[in-house]
Amino acid sequence: MKLYKNDLPDNVVFQNSVAIDTETMGLVTKRDRLCLVQMCSSDGDVHMVQILKDQCGKAVNLKRILKDSKIQKIFHFARFDVEILNYTFGIRVNNIYCTKIASKLVRTYTDKHGLKNLCKDMLGVDLSKQEQSSDWGRDSLSEEQLKYAAGDVIYLHQLKEKLDLMLEREGRLGLANRCFDHLQLIADLDLQDICPEELFVH
Ligand code: MN
Repeated sequence: MKLYKNDLPDNVVFQNSVAIDTETMGLVTKRDRLCLVQMCSSDGDVHMVQILKDQCGKAVNLKRILKDSKIQKIFHFARFDVEILNYTFGIRVNNIYCTKIASKLVRTYTDKHGLKNLCKDMLGVDLSKQEQSSDWGRDSLSEEQLKYAAGDVIYLHQLKEKLDLMLEREGRLGLANRCFDHLQLIADLDLQDICPEELFVH
């Protein structure tokens, strides 16, 4: 597990895919700043970038990866992460996969689609959510915070693999991909405070 400040070093590269999660000061994008971006390669290497206050302009390498359409970004509940990443860096995150949407599309026998539930049910892993509500804006993050933050990205590749097999089996892989393609639109609407769900109800 490696921790950097404000950007990834030049020598960190991701082939084909990267699992990503973010930690912020809260859930209101324009009020609550981005504090940490966690990334995990398909080999399980974790790289975390702490974004110090007003230093988001320095994340040149990070932005390049987020925009790169050849690298798939695997999130859990991509809608939130994509909105805050787009907003903070003034970019568009390209090539998105969301394990929560995949789960909702294919695990229709349950209404439990949280990351903790997926890890437990699909991988038999117990994920601690204890540090979820902690001060991610502090200059020096604690060991517990960093361990928790890494936990949110290290299982995403395995979950995607299992979810893709189920989506394939149930004939919903195409539908899933079309949903992922729409996350860009949803993020744009969210940023303008237009509720996407509202547009589709009478
Ligand atoms: Mn997280």
